[in-house]
Parts: sequence; structure tokens; C-alpha cells
Amino acid sequence: MAKRLSQNDPEIVKTFTEVYRIPRQKFDQLKEPKRMAEYFRNDIKKGMIEIGYSIDWRREFTTIDHMYNRFIKWHFRWLNQHGYITKGTHPVAWCPNDKNPVGTVDTQGDIEPEIGESSLIKFRQDEIVYPTATLRPETVFGVTNLWVNPEAQYVQARVDEEQWIVSLEAVATLEHQNHNISIERELSGKELLWKTLTNPVTQATIPILPARFVESDNGTGIVMSVPGHAPYDYQALTELKTNPSLPDHAKAIVEKIEPISVITLEGFSQSPAADIVKKYGITDQKDPRLAEATKDLYSKEFHNGSMNENAKPYTGQSVEQARQAIIQELTNAGKLAKLYEILNKPITCRCGTRVVVHIVDNQWFINYGDPEWKKQAHLCLDQMAILPEERRNEFNYALDWLKERACARKVGLGTRLPWDPDWIIEALSDSVIYMAYYILAKYLAKDWVSFKRFEKSPEDLPDAFFDYIFLGEGSPEAITRETKISKRIIEGIRKEFTYFYPVDMRHSAKDLVSNHLSMYIFHHTALFPRNLWPKGIVANGFVLMERAKMSKSLENIIPLRQAIAKFGADPLRIGVLSTAELNQDTDFSESLVATIQDRLVNLVAQSRKLGRRRVSGKSSSSTLDRWMLSRLNSAAQTATTAMEKLRVREVINTVLYQIENDTAWYQRRLGPRKKSHDGRDRVLKQVFDFKARMIAPLAPHVAEEMWTSLGNKGMVSKADWPEFDESLHDSAAEAAESITRQTLDDTAEILRATGLTPKRITYYSAAPWKWRIYQKALDIAAKSQTNQGNFIRDVMSEPELRSIGKPAADFASKSIRQATQMKEELRKARLGLELKEMKILEDAMDFFSREFKAEIQVGQEGEKRVSDPKDRARSAEPYRPAIFIE
Ligand SMILES: [Zn+2]
Repeated sequence: MAKRLSQNDPEIVKTFTEVYRIPRQKFDQLKEPKRMAEYFRNDIKKGMIEIGYSIDWRREFTTIDHMYNRFIKWHFRWLNQHGYITKGTHPVAWCPNDKNPVGTVDTQGDIEPEIGESSLIKFRQDEIVYPTATLRPETVFGVTNLWVNPEAQYVQARVDEEQWIVSLEAVATLEHQNHNISIERELSGKELLWKTLTNPVTQATIPILPARFVESDNGTGIVMSVPGHAPYDYQALTELKTNPSLPDHAKAIVEKIEPISVITLEGFSQSPAADIVKKYGITDQKDPRLAEATKDLYSKEFHNGSMNENAKPYTGQSVEQARQAIIQELTNAGKLAKLYEILNKPITCRCGTRVVVHIVDNQWFINYGDPEWKKQAHLCLDQMAILPEERRNEFNYALDWLKERACARKVGLGTRLPWDPDWIIEALSDSVIYMAYYILAKYLAKDWVSFKRFEKSPEDLPDAFFDYIFLGEGSPEAITRETKISKRIIEGIRKEFTYFYPVDMRHSAKDLVSNHLSMYIFHHTALFPRNLWPKGIVANGFVLMERAKMSKSLENIIPLRQAIAKFGADPLRIGVLSTAELNQDTDFSESLVATIQDRLVNLVAQSRKLGRRRVSGKSSSSTLDRWMLSRLNSAAQTATTAMEKLRVREVINTVLYQIENDTAWYQRRLGPRKKSHDGRDRVLKQVFDFKARMIAPLAPHVAEEMWTSLGNKGMVSKADWPEFDESLHDSAAEAAESITRQTLDDTAEILRATGLTPKRITYYSAAPWKWRIYQKALDIAAKSQTNQGNFIRDVMSEPELRSIGKPAADFASKSIRQATQMKEELRKARLGLELKEMKILEDAMDFFSREFKAEIQVGQEGEKRVSDPKDRARSAEPYRPAIFIE
């Protein structure tokens, strides 16, 4: 970025001025890479402080600090001594501009380049080689012609000891892959057309034909044509055969060409390519679906195909076997060379240059391909908690897929390889065990205070020091003798290390699964004893912005500190977390954050009001109070379980919404205060006490303010998470409130539907015999599947119920239906519950009267105490009183 800024790259300038709002006067400083790193590091640190992360900043360090360099030298010397480092000549993804290998962290869009190996088959015209790149060398028996793009530029060049014809773009590709090249002459694609050459395997004479689909920057720009098995080739040949503008001599050549079948594939004709082009309905060689069709057919032939009699001597072999054998045979005969390509191209380096494959001689690698090491890494993964669990497969894949990985480069910031200081360890390799370094950082910072008796510079600390601290090898006495650092300090650091290690849970993001997080597992299993292996990883999704991916080009990035300034830290935190599920991306929405802000402000205001109230001495225990505490208790239980699984969204819903709704209902039921303090404050204080504790990890600033306002000492962040108390669970109180709530809603619904203004409302509780039948129904439904007829017969066998006659039978039939359809949880709560519904309704008379501004009467079905002029009482059911409005 510093380089791009120095070059006044408009995209960087725009991002810096418009997104990060960095004043232009600062740009000169930022052109220096270290200053730029420092600028963003400080900015991010300020953001972390402002958003309220609990970070122990004494442990802060960067990977270019001298002491960190010292630590990494120890790490790499250890890896090298134990055989994890190899030196070799391997292909790497490479930026030609930076002259450095590139990995995920170096590319635009953070894409890990994938390198694939293809075969260059050498077709010949006398002494001149026409190399064609292919992933399917076994189809060489089916080649009918070669393709070139007549619009492209080609060259004849001396490549190592041979004369080759390749596209102009292929020259650089080959140079990067250790070929010695000098261009002898340039020629156009047109000049190559209609020439004939020899198939190096079948010795057949084949022509060079024109095709538009050939890309000169892909492979060598020359393509072998297998129209029997390659959809692109089949389509290009079909178009050429029907091209009216071909000259006669060309027409004569093209007409003779027929697809050659070399692979038998069940369910397909002799020309599978023709079948599949027809199936996809493709009629143009530039149709993008050709890539899909190709992939489809290649995979089918690879897995199910076998070589036929045209592929002698490989007839009968599977495609996979034949491929390996042909590569071997042609390589031995000098007819095949390797070509590496970036499979997921195009990939662009952060400097703006296209990434290529480069072969570095004698480059240093970390050998993740070592089968023993892989086994250890899998062992570690198998014992780890992975959240969300769905990502475990990606880890398994990454552990298998990683092989030798270039670990050093010639330029950049970082630590020099201790045994070969021309090389600098690259950024994904020097940051896989830095979690261990947090322990040391605290002692090494602050001007080296802890080690003041060590007279040399930090770089001179012996490896024995690190061996003891991290691996427990050697003795503190020996280190004290060598370094003069006191034994007490050395033992203290070791003790602190074993206190914190292993890492219980590493929180990171899903894009790091295939690189950093997998390497983190690898290195820990190599260096540390099994009891210090990592125990868990959380791989989060990304934060979306109003459902769109955040990206510079969409101009929808809000830097953290700007968002904090705009919304406040806690609304922002809850805003991000409240849509977060571990296995999906979280969606940021400004309007949501604004409503959360209101809610949090309100919480603080209520806490302050409550804090000013004195709580009366006597403890209250009305049904309503017991209901509130029962609800609070089950909310705490839900929130605790959710928090343990990191289902933060559920925690927020419970703490911020469910408890809030219950509290609102509680207050509404109580009505306006009659005294300056009453029984409710004791209950509300307990509710807010719980809320402050549970919201503390999510909205720490609001929680602390609530905590202090409520009159507590100390900090809520240090207070315990609330303990739920099973004895507070009160099914009767919960059932009573659900009756009141249901009755309120039913009444309001009637008033809305009829438009009545009530003077008097009468509620009739169901007759005792209905409650008896209802309980029987719940009991039977809970025990087993029952048949309605049996249940009615059972009910009617009780003399008391039989005496009621048809109404009892009707109600039995209704009850058993309800009871079997009811949610199990509700049925369990109601089963065996002895409710005094009349009493519940009577207790709520004041409330109903206040709500409906009407006189309230309560009666019971079958009693004459309250009048029932319209015969409403008989429709009463348990939990559903009948309602009469006058
Ligand atoms: Zn670059």
C-alpha cells in the first residue's frame, strides 16, 4: 500500500481520503511502510479501546519488534533442527513486480493462489516444437489438429536446447519456470495456420487450425484439439466445418477431420463431447457454459471412463492409470515437460501486478506435506472444539491439502532466517505461535526492566531460555548462570506460560481456516507437548453492510472508529452481535443500531430511577411478583445456555427483549404507583441486577453505568454471571399470568370487533367438572396416544360426570383433541396444576378495570352468584374464561 500511495494510485488515494478520512498532509509519512503500519496499528488500537475490548495492553507487540524477531529465530531454528524445514526447487505463486512469493495476505481480495500442474506435450514440425498445455495427456491419442488464435502474437524462441513456437505471453510464463529463453522471431497466429505437424505419440500428421476460444495468455497459446472428448474442441470444429468463408484448400483439410474416440464412457456415444454440447444446448465456442460442460465431462471420464482400442497400449486401463503412465513415458522420451499454472486465476497482488507461478531455486519451505506431521495435526483437530462444527470438514481438507509452503522471501518486513539471513520469514509463517509470545511480551516490554541483570542486548538471549519457558526443557539454574537473569523471574514466566497455555478458544474468521488457522494447528503439534495443544477454534463469518459484502468498490465500508463516533460503542456492539450466528455472516443495519441505541439509553434511565428508590423492608410475594421472578429465572437459564454455545443473538433476544417485555407487563399489571416506594422495587431491582450482569459482556459501558446507578459497588465486569435458582420457577404463577394475559387479549379482541364501549365486563370461570375433564385429558395425552372414543367412554364412566350428560361428552371430545395437539412443554406445565382461576381473575379485577375503564365482575359457570342473562358462562373453558360485555 505504501508503494501504491507513493505512485499516487487513484484507488488507494480515494480509499485513504474518503473511507479512512486521512488528511492529505499525512500522505508523505505514510509512503514509508513502517510509518503506514504504525498509523493503522494506532488507529485500530484506539478503536479497540473505544469499543471496550478488555485487552491487556501490557502484552502488546508487533511481529517486527526486535524481541519478537528473537522469538521467531528460536521457533525457526527449532523447526529446522527437527526436520520441518526443507530446501528445494518448487513452484510458488509469485509477484513479478515485488519479486516475492505471494500468499493469501498479499493478494487483492485475500485469495490464496492455487497452483496446478499441467503437461506440455511437444508436437513437432521437423525440428520445431509446438508445445501444448493439457490437463489430460491421455487424450493425446485423440488429437485431430492443433488450435491457435489467428489474432494473437506468437514467437519462435530458443527454449533451453530446442526451438519452440509459443504465444508472446507464454515467454514470461516459461521464464518464471526456469526455462532459458531467447526470442528469435515474432510471427502472427495467421502465419501458423494450415501448417502440418506430427503427433509425438501416434505419429499422425495433423494440421494447425484457427479457433477464437484460444487465449494467448493461457498455457502456451497453442491447444491440442480432441473433438471426441473436449467440448471446446468439438464446438470449434463444428463451427469451422460450417464456415462459408473458408478458402477451398482449408475446406478440404477441415472436411476430412472426424472426432477420434479414445475413452469408453457408459451412457455416452463414441463422441461424448458431441453428446454433452448437445445436452447443454451450446452453439458458440465463446459460450461460458462450455467451461461447465468441460468440467462435467472431464470428471465423468476421469472417474468412470476406460481407454479404448485407439489408445494402445493403454487399452482397458482407467483414465487415471493411463494418465500417470503416459506422463511417465513421454517425460522419459523427452516429449513432455511440466507447466505450472494458477488454477484460480486471475489473481492480483496488492501492488496491482498479476500473480504468476515462479520456480525459485533452493527456496526454503515448511514441509506441511510430511505425513507424520499431518497425522499429528489431525489428531489435534479431532480433539478440538470447532465452532461452528460445520467448519470441521474445511479444516480436515486444509490439513490434507497443505504441502510444502515457501516460508521466506527476499524483501519485506519481518525476521531473517537464522541460518540463511538473506531470507526474511514471510507473514503467514512467523505468526502461528505468537499466542505463546503474549506471555513473554509483558516481561520484555518496559525497557527490559525484568531482565536488567542480563547485560547483553535482547537479541543475545540464548535458545535455552526459550526452551525452558515454552517447552520446559533445561533448568532455570543453568539459564541464570548464563544470563544472570534471576531464577525467580525465569520460573515466574514459565509458571505464567503453563497457567495460560493451552489456548482454550481461538476466535478468528472463516477465511483463515485454510491457511493461518490450519498452520496454527500444525505448528503447535510440532513444538509443544500434547497437553499444550490448542483446544478450540471459533471461525466467525464476515460482517455484511445492509446485506451487501463490505468492499471498497461498493464504498460501503465504515471504519470502526467512525462507527463508534456515530452510534456509540455499545449500540454498535449489540447491532453487530444481534444478527450474528456463528455459521453465517452478520448483517449490519444502521436503523437497527439506532433502535438498539434507544433501548440502551432507556435501560440506563430506568436503572437511575430505580437506584434512587429505597426498597421497603418486607419482602413481597404476590403471584405477580413470583411470576416476574420465575420469568427472570428462566430467562437467565436460557441466556446462560446460549452464551455457553456462543449463540449471542439468543442472549441478546432474551436479555434485551424478552426480559424487557416481561418487565413491561409486570409494570402494566401493577398500574401507577400509589406510594413513593412499594413492593415492586425489590423485584425490579433484582431484574435489573440480573440484566446488568448478563449484558456486561455485550454492552460493557451501559452495564457498568446500570450497575453503579443501581447502587452497587465495584464493577459489573468483575461481578459473577447470575445464577439461576430452580426454586424461583413457579408454574402456577406463570399459568395464572397467562390466563390474565389471554383474558385481556380476548376481551380487547371482542371490543375491537364489536366497537363496543363497555360499562361492565363479566368473566365466568369454567365449572369444576370441566377442569376435572381437562386434567384427565392432559394426563392421558401425556401418557400415550389415545383414541377419542375411548377417552369419552372413560370420562362418562364416572357417575358424577355422566350425570352432566352431553355437555360433558362434548367437552371431553374437545379437551382430548386440544391436549394431544398441545406443545409438550405447555402440556407438561399444565399437567396436575391446581389453579384457582376465580381467584386469579378476582385478583386481576383492578387491572382489567383500569385497562378497559369498566366495572368488572367475576363469576363461575354453574353458580348463580353473578347474573348471566345471555347464557355465556357455559362457553367457559379452563384457561379461557367466558366473557360477557354490557
Ligand atoms: Zn506485487
